[in-house]
Amino acid sequence: MTELERQQWDVVVVGAGGAGLRAAIEAREAGARTAVICKSLFGKAHTVMAEGGIAASMGNVNPRDNWQVHFRDTMRGGKFLNQWRMAELHAQEAPDRVWELETWGALFDRTGDGKISQRNFGGHEYPRLAHVGDRTGLELIRTLQQKIVSLQQEDERESGDYEARLKVFQECTVTRVLKDGDRVAGAFCYERESGRFFVLEAPAVVLATGGIGKSFKVTSNSWEYTGDGHALALLAGAPLLNMEFVQFHPTGMVWPPSVKGILVTESVRGDGGVLRNSEGRRFMFDYVPDVFKEKYAESEEEGDRWYEDPDGNRRPPELLPRDEVARAINAEVKAGRGSPHGGVFLDVSTRMPAEVIRRRLPSMYHQFKELADVDITAEAMEVGPTCHYVMGGIAVDSDTAAAAGVPGLYAAGEVAGGMHGSNRLGGNSLSDLLVFGRRAGLHAAEYAADLDGRLPAVAEEQIDAAAAEALRPFSAGAPEPDTPPENPYTLHQELQQTMNDLVGIIRREAEMAQALKRLADLRVRARRAGVEGHRQFNPGWHLALDLRNMLLVSECVARSALERTESRGGHTREDNPAMEREWRRINLLCRLADRSASFGPVEPGAPPADPVRGQIDLARKTAAPIRPDLLALFEKEELVKYLAEEELYE
Ligand code: FAD
Repeated sequence: MTELERQQWDVVVVGAGGAGLRAAIEAREAGARTAVICKSLFGKAHTVMAEGGIAASMGNVNPRDNWQVHFRDTMRGGKFLNQWRMAELHAQEAPDRVWELETWGALFDRTGDGKISQRNFGGHEYPRLAHVGDRTGLELIRTLQQKIVSLQQEDERESGDYEARLKVFQECTVTRVLKDGDRVAGAFCYERESGRFFVLEAPAVVLATGGIGKSFKVTSNSWEYTGDGHALALLAGAPLLNMEFVQFHPTGMVWPPSVKGILVTESVRGDGGVLRNSEGRRFMFDYVPDVFKEKYAESEEEGDRWYEDPDGNRRPPELLPRDEVARAINAEVKAGRGSPHGGVFLDVSTRMPAEVIRRRLPSMYHQFKELADVDITAEAMEVGPTCHYVMGGIAVDSDTAAAAGVPGLYAAGEVAGGMHGSNRLGGNSLSDLLVFGRRAGLHAAEYAADLDGRLPAVAEEQIDAAAAEALRPFSAGAPEPDTPPENPYTLHQELQQTMNDLVGIIRREAEMAQALKRLADLRVRARRAGVEGHRQFNPGWHLALDLRNMLLVSECVARSALERTESRGGHTREDNPAMEREWRRINLLCRLADRSASFGPVEPGAPPADPVRGQIDLARKTAAPIRPDLLALFEKEELVKYLAEEELYE
């Protein structure tokens, strides 16, 4: 029996980014005793890195904006694969979530007449992103943290204890969701600094762990994004939805090598930045796909006029959705028209005065000056695609954020699937976090309250198994002591290279099949991932544990990408380049195959891993038809481009 501390809560929120904090606030306000747990320091999450803004159709800059236009843009951006009810709720509720932030103390940039300012972004018909310079995520997190502190102060006044109803466990990692039968019963956790294990018992767990970018070599994501929540859900029995859709942001830094992949915000293009190839050509005009032809400018002159007169002109193609721009950059580089370090040029220096650039894009100015010695007010940046965001995620109920098939499990934010379809529009993540974070917190609290004392119990055997799994890297040599343990850093690098090269921005059948073979091999080796030393201050051990998650999630991405024989949004198949209407209604669901549910050590003489079978079962599921009143928001000619034949008849 493993001796450890056990605490009881009503709701445990895993993740302290925008989704996690918004969920925690809502759960606590609904009366639930709520614990928040996060891998890094409180306040350090991807949300804090978000630059451009929060998409919400407040209509402050162009009064023609409204939720219906936002819904249309989101569905177009996702190529109609979005879980349409989520897209509807998101578009309807985003403005309230932004105004609410303001009442909690957020200070957004203003328009001349004092309203919250909104900027242009790719795929959004009107200026829609509420922003704070290019540091919007920082303000969002600061505001949510401030709200949490104010709730804790309220609790202190009532009970004498700041943490009576809302407590944050920072620098702690969850490695397993614990269950009682089908139901959630809590989370198994360890403190990163001391290595101490503990259990948070709770009938409801909200997963808000963000993305998976660290499975790819070139990425804008930071160290925590190893797909933990995706893997925790799979291991708890919940399916993942449409994992083939990974967003490669068109503009990451490409030079110097130590910073390759770091994000260059889309606000640069939103504020007038243009993309050019080595011949000086504004190449995006050559890459406007048929489905978007009517909405984008045909000449540089028209595109430039749009910044002054958006109602009388069409927008420049630099503001196409991200998947289109990333593919175009990739094609230019491949055709030999790239910049010296394998990207293309992004220029604002010829478009805005230096002091305006420094004011509107302060982080970008400092990022390039300090990391690349480039002054963006005087010269062009070199940029190229970088793995940025995962549209696939935990399959959830649109209204309640409940994960499919596991009572008590909820998911919100980047870890949840469905909202963005095959491609997310910039700015739609921050609003997604607020809208569905709130919903997840509310429904998790209601679920816990409705149990009326019928609480799940955490069995000792589950705790023992979770502890043994977490300790395995310290005895990785056994049961074959002659074979040296594998180095987790080497395995991680090989995994990242595999995903980058074989399941990256442009995909081919043979390469993805090869990726699955390599992943199978890495999986076997990862069971021998070993570390030296103690549980205290041991990042190698943490990585060895994270490898389980990255391997699971990478297999989901590769297997789904192999299955979907079309190109759509963040999934581009060189061997199946067209978007196929029959695939519009097909969702791909990944589940853990039973036989691999335990990650035990390799038995001596065990047969080699079967790359075809792997650890994931894949199934197709037909999506629910889009509600007629929502379809009526589109012109028929447009629907013909997307919907399957039978849907059009319906
Ligand atoms: P995150 O903010 O990623 O937080 C995840 C949390 O989960 C963290 O606290 C982490 O420590 C914790 N966690 C993870 N695993 C575990 C575990 N096993 N145990 C415990 N805790 C765990 N979107 C926009 O809409 N607009 C933008 O302008 C924008 N700019 C961006 C710029 C950059 C550089 C990046 C990387 C992303 C940007 N995005 C933007 C995307 C957006 O920031 C993210 O999608 C979003 O912040 C994700 O929020 P989240 O709450 O889901 O998760």
